[in-house]
Amino acid sequence: MAVKVFIPTPLRPYAGRQSTVEIEGGTVGEVLNNLTARYQQLHQHLYSEQGSLRSYVNIYVNDSDIRYLSKENTKLKDTDSVSIIPSIAGGIDMAEIEALEEVHLSKEEILRYSRHLIIPEVGLKGQKKLKTASVLMIGAGGLGSPLALYLAAAGIGKIGIVDFDVVDESNLQRQIIHSTSDVGKSKLESARASIEGINPNVIVETYPVRLSSENALDLMKDYDIVADGTDNFPTRYLVNDACVLLDKPNVYGSIFRFDGQVTVFDAKLGPCYRCLYPAPPPPGLVPSCAEGGVLGVLPGIIGTLQALETIKLILEEGEPLIGRLVLFDALKFSFREFTLHKNPDCPICGLNPSIHKLIDYEEFCGIEPVVKQKYDFDTPEITVEELKRRIDKCDDFYLLDVREPNEYEIANLGGHLIPVSELTERVLEIDPYKEIIVHCKTGVRSAKAVRFLQKAGFLKVKNLAGGIEAWTQRIDPSLPRY
Ligand code: ZN
Repeated sequence: MAVKVFIPTPLRPYAGRQSTVEIEGGTVGEVLNNLTARYQQLHQHLYSEQGSLRSYVNIYVNDSDIRYLSKENTKLKDTDSVSIIPSIAGGIDMAEIEALEEVHLSKEEILRYSRHLIIPEVGLKGQKKLKTASVLMIGAGGLGSPLALYLAAAGIGKIGIVDFDVVDESNLQRQIIHSTSDVGKSKLESARASIEGINPNVIVETYPVRLSSENALDLMKDYDIVADGTDNFPTRYLVNDACVLLDKPNVYGSIFRFDGQVTVFDAKLGPCYRCLYPAPPPPGLVPSCAEGGVLGVLPGIIGTLQALETIKLILEEGEPLIGRLVLFDALKFSFREFTLHKNPDCPICGLNPSIHKLIDYEEFCGIEPVVKQKYDFDTPEITVEELKRRIDKCDDFYLLDVREPNEYEIANLGGHLIPVSELTERVLEIDPYKEIIVHCKTGVRSAKAVRFLQKAGFLKVKNLAGGIEAWTQRIDPSLPRY
């Protein structure tokens, strides 16, 4: 015999996100046993470690509280329904309510947030939650820009930002927190000025460092939520692992050209990034935004969705994007949602985790440390100054440009264009009797091409260190940078 069980909103993430489920059982105890057998994560929310029903969870059969019937032995008919009513709907405990009573909004804040205050789901209580919340943003770039601006406008109490970059002209196409007058300044200071301009009530903490295994736990530990706006795999795994180890939600977004992804990783309630992608792609397979490009408005959309999910987590309202990955295709204008499953074999959040502390993420992602790359004798290099001397001397060599045709169109050094992705098929076009000097935009793709050519039997191959970017900066500033 099956009865209908009503699942309250806060517990739905642990019950396949369903509001009702049909469960077999002749008594309330049997139904709850079968329910938690089917949805194992529910167990800890309904039962204490001693195995008794938690005091803040009440069970009703139809309209009656089972404490006034026969408790868990209450018999059921198949027309009965069982409702789980947690006394802490929304997950607020008394300590939190008392803490919120201590928080006050000034007259100015009440006016500022008035459009929030009149929404029942936010109200004074929600606005106070936002005011006491803290969010650490990793990166003040494309995703971080709208994220920081909307979090600030919404009245988040403290926003921390980790970034070590300076504003470059090529950032302005999408990083709307920075202005033309900020070019050359630290991104942190530029972001701070924009945030304070929007909402002076926000405390802004800035960390001018590269996030690393050494500093990540320390930086994140005092924040409620981490929002990942990074664009590289080592940092993405680092943010994930640190969040899992610290039990913090990670509001995740990523972008490439016209495609965006957004989800919330929270290993307590659902999968983590490693459940989704246990291992990173080989280096060079997935190009970065700097190499592949990104439509300027796309991080605006995805970063705004990250802001939305962050605010929902703080308000404890609605259904968070935990265990769901949303893909946005800007060209098609389609949003597709995929269910993500927690991987029981996940090396960090699974049943028998093998990772208990932060590791070396550059090594994990197969990226050679910068120092090693620089002095790697297998990849002989030439500087832009040396190349200039040799061009001036009319030296005979084969200059190979391994960038994409649209990059070539923006600026080129007159080299033979064979994109790195086409090198295997077009290798015969290269003159094997000449010395080959390979360049790309910054020297990364060309180093890969040099290694490929060496393996293919070309003996005299050199990589142009720093690529056309270094050439433009040090030899010919009249060439456009991109
Ligand atoms: Zn995991």
